[in-house]
Amino acid sequence: MSEYHEAIIVGGGPAGLTAGIYLMRAGIDVLLLEKMIPGGTPMNTELVENYPGFPEGVSGRDLMNRFTEHARQCGLLMQEFSEVEEIYRESGKFIIKTTDRTYTSVGIVLATGTEPAKMGIPGENELLGRGISYCATCDGAFFRNLDVAVIGGGDAAIEEGLSLANIARKVYVIHRRDTLRAQKIVQDRAFRNGKIEFLWNKRPLEIKGKDQVEYIIVEDVMTGEHSEVKVDGVFVYVGARPNTAFLKGLVDRDDAGFVLTDEALSAKTKGLFAAGDVRKKTLRQISTAVGDGALAAVNLERYILEKR
Ligand code: NAP
Repeated sequence: MSEYHEAIIVGGGPAGLTAGIYLMRAGIDVLLLEKMIPGGTPMNTELVENYPGFPEGVSGRDLMNRFTEHARQCGLLMQEFSEVEEIYRESGKFIIKTTDRTYTSVGIVLATGTEPAKMGIPGENELLGRGISYCATCDGAFFRNLDVAVIGGGDAAIEEGLSLANIARKVYVIHRRDTLRAQKIVQDRAFRNGKIEFLWNKRPLEIKGKDQVEYIIVEDVMTGEHSEVKVDGVFVYVGARPNTAFLKGLVDRDDAGFVLTDEALSAKTKGLFAAGDVRKKTLRQISTAVGDGALAAVNLERYILEKR
């Protein structure tokens, strides 16, 4: 037996929770499915400094707990630890299969966000959890007064590199170019931080260590020269991959897998709206995810009212 709701939101990050708040306030029968607990990627962000309304900054976890509390107060039903494995169309409705249940809905907000990209180099999988991590907020404390490397030059790498500098003895930022893509204000702070050393134009080739990470072999992309960077930990921030594998033909994607939407945030299939980081867009922030969640919800509401 499948459980019926007019709308199902897949993913409980900023976009999904915002969509839930808007749909509940519009009187739509909605259920949010979340594979872990609500909150999404910002749950692993030490300090959010660019979300308006928090001039002192706010911990990602605190902010997302407030989003979740707000959604609960609106009466949003949330099914935690419920991972969607497949979505397809049948008789004009969506069928959503999780590991243990089947749901039917008129419409969907897809807000599954992203997961960390891997470098795909030798040693990365083998030493995972033994010095290699994708989450400084979760694992940084294990590296107090030790030397760590952060790989990447985007917002995540530099922001998390800065928070690691509060704990570690030394933070190497290993970046494959000689300029960063992180926001300027964050770059400047990292350049001023005495514990952070930038290794420019270096591409990690292999992570070595017997039981734990011991060193990284890097290649200088200008000279081709190889060298070793001795570290106790490696934090990988080389980008994000969208979580869309279960969607099959329901959406069109760009080359990196991000879901293509129109101005109303509708995907190729009518009734399916995408919101937040999973969508092809130019700026991935909590503030833009919130905007997406609201817009997707309002357009899904219209779609549902037409179908009622
Ligand atoms: P990102 O912006 O895509 O940056 C990834 C970085 O990793 C780039 O510097 C890239 O180098 C490098 N890289 C990619 N593949 C690599 C490889 N195989 N080996 C070595 N380096 C590699 O990813 P992100 O920092 O995870 O951020 C994801 C999205 O979330 C972005 O849109 C970001 O703006 C957003 N975000 C925002 C905030 C905030 O606003 N506070 C915080 C975190 C994330 P190149 O520069 O050469 O391409």
